[in-house]
Amino acid sequence: MIFKSTRGGGAAVSFKSAVFEGLASDGGLYHPTSIPNLNKLFLSLTSSSDYNQIAEEVTFHLLSPEIDRETARRIVSASYDFSPHLQRIDDSLFVLELFHGPSYAFKDFGACFLASCMEEFLSGDKRDAVILVATSGDTGSAVARAFLGKKNIHVVILYPSGRVSMLQEKQLTTLDKNISTLEVKGSFDDCQKMVKQAFTDTELNRKLMLTSANSINLGRLIPQSFYYIHAYAQLAAELDDGLVFCVPSGNFGNLTAGVYAWQWGLPVKRFIAATNKNDVVPQYLQSGIYETRASIRTLSNAMDVGNPSNMERLRAVFNSDWAKMAAMLQGEVITDEETTETIKGVWNRSALIIDPHTAVGYLAATRFRNRNDLPGAKIVIIATAHPAKFRETVREATGQQPELPAGLQEALDLPKKSTVVENTLQDLKDFILARFA
Ligand SMILES: *Cc1c(COP(=O)(O)O)cnc(C)c1O
Repeated sequence: MIFKSTRGGGAAVSFKSAVFEGLASDGGLYHPTSIPNLNKLFLSLTSSSDYNQIAEEVTFHLLSPEIDRETARRIVSASYDFSPHLQRIDDSLFVLELFHGPSYAFKDFGACFLASCMEEFLSGDKRDAVILVATSGDTGSAVARAFLGKKNIHVVILYPSGRVSMLQEKQLTTLDKNISTLEVKGSFDDCQKMVKQAFTDTELNRKLMLTSANSINLGRLIPQSFYYIHAYAQLAAELDDGLVFCVPSGNFGNLTAGVYAWQWGLPVKRFIAATNKNDVVPQYLQSGIYETRASIRTLSNAMDVGNPSNMERLRAVFNSDWAKMAAMLQGEVITDEETTETIKGVWNRSALIIDPHTAVGYLAATRFRNRNDLPGAKIVIIATAHPAKFRETVREATGQQPELPAGLQEALDLPKKSTVVENTLQDLKDFILARFA
């Protein structure tokens, strides 16, 4: 498999190049140039197929000869000491919990694989890589945890001082080893600007190998297909009337990975694109008109995106054909009031505590089922975050205080370690050059 920009510029590149470059040179996103057929492999899977086994098999089939079987096995086993948990709600509704990894959010599945790939690719190189990440809270901790202890890689995380939650700050600032955290006197936009400037700075790029690990990276997207395939395998024996995935979405990386798996031959009937009031994609699916907007704040804030970056990849999958996309993707829009009511209702009916992002998916799936478009289909709702990460919202909705998992409690108990800097490129450069050049 080789990859080309969604905007058509530049040459096709290897997986390794796509991973280290992140964004293509023309500003587009890397996207596979061909569609492999893995249908036979998928149909051979059963409920006893192990997650890492599936991940290894799919990695090998997609990326060999660039990645041979031995390397695929090494990357996968270095990535995952956690796996998805599929919970049955009733005959046709399931929740796929993807929040049992190191940062308690689904982004761990992509970030850990990317980190292991980079470590593997750098093991023959002489130079270390420096990864720069600007975060408004959540993404940073998945990346930091994924890269913790990886050889030949240093990670520098920038976050806006005083503008992330206490739990998020602790998750970002209590790691050590190869992770440094800069507390920037400024906004998230300042952090992002500093990182962007660093990537184009001549001196830094001469002295160091700078790279990014953001969510558009193919090394994060490809592995997100594995949990769709694993969920299919778990349910394969009972799928007489088809399988539907419901994906709470913001930048649409999660949903795109599922659509890739379908394109490679996974038997999926429909995807539900569930959003909060940042609903440009559901609007497009309904009307055929795509209008990006500034984002608005909601309770499911990791999905507050007004211009979803992976729309470029989704369009590429469907050859920019609206009718084809609308036939496969069903949009659903959920308000904050409905989100809170859903958290409460699910707690009362099923004694299950869900976070606000998962609640958006839950209500969207329920609506889809009630319309009876695909009678008898099994619907799998992707649960993207541990409810303890959104304690306030969950407590207000249910009266329950979700129990903190051990890893989060541990982070809360550790002392914060960060370096306070001004919001200038020079401050960032001084820090990086003093340490890594
Ligand atoms: C990032 C995130 C999402 C949105 O995922 P996309 O791939 O950007 O669509 C949903 N829920 C949580 C908890 C997230 O962190």
